[in-house]
Amino acid sequence: MLKINSYNESSFSFYKDVVSSKRNTVNKPRLKGELETISNDQSSYFDVYDDAFSSNSLSSIAAGSYNDNDKANLNGLYSYRSKKIQELKNLLTRHPLHTENILNTCQNCTINEADTMDHVLAQTEFPEFAVHPKNLFPCCGFCNKKKSDKYVDEEGNLLFLNLFLDDLPQSQYLHVNFGDNWLPRFYLDQPTDVSDKVFNLIKSHYERLDLLTRFS
Ligand SMILES: [Zn+2]
Repeated sequence: MLKINSYNESSFSFYKDVVSSKRNTVNKPRLKGELETISNDQSSYFDVYDDAFSSNSLSSIAAGSYNDNDKANLNGLYSYRSKKIQELKNLLTRHPLHTENILNTCQNCTINEADTMDHVLAQTEFPEFAVHPKNLFPCCGFCNKKKSDKYVDEEGNLLFLNLFLDDLPQSQYLHVNFGDNWLPRFYLDQPTDVSDKVFNLIKSHYERLDLLTRFS
């Protein structure tokens, strides 16, 4: 797994560009006007997200208070195949160390190709961040499905690594041994210099994405 570079230009400008690319349709004849009406609210929500992102405290963000129509409009801004989202994905899948190379493997698992975008804060609960460029992480379909809508447990602890933000320990925590018939068995072991908090997050990420079995 590698920590990847996050979007480093204005998040709200990205949002505005996506909004500009939309047109009123037969089903949504007032879409543009309705999006314009919530523009200031969106700007405030984006500031909150960017601040929480800077301090790696996304779990502190409370969901916005939009009506169902606005929620549908915001969710409708996201389409994986759209030009803006594909441009973002191409930017984010540059190798963090060798930027001339593409790293198109899902860094949540390092197994499959990244062919979706995961919403770090889920679209259902946080439609205001449906096209926030720091809320979109290139991901394989398998991990994306496993992540579903849950990102914190009952105590508010994060369930998954955020590989825009979380530094992975230098010491080895993933091990493998070979049993009968040379079948590999992967397991995690907490190194002495890794805190419980960090190790528990890694463990949760591995367990919830079923990584130890998938590696085998
Ligand atoms: Zn994956």
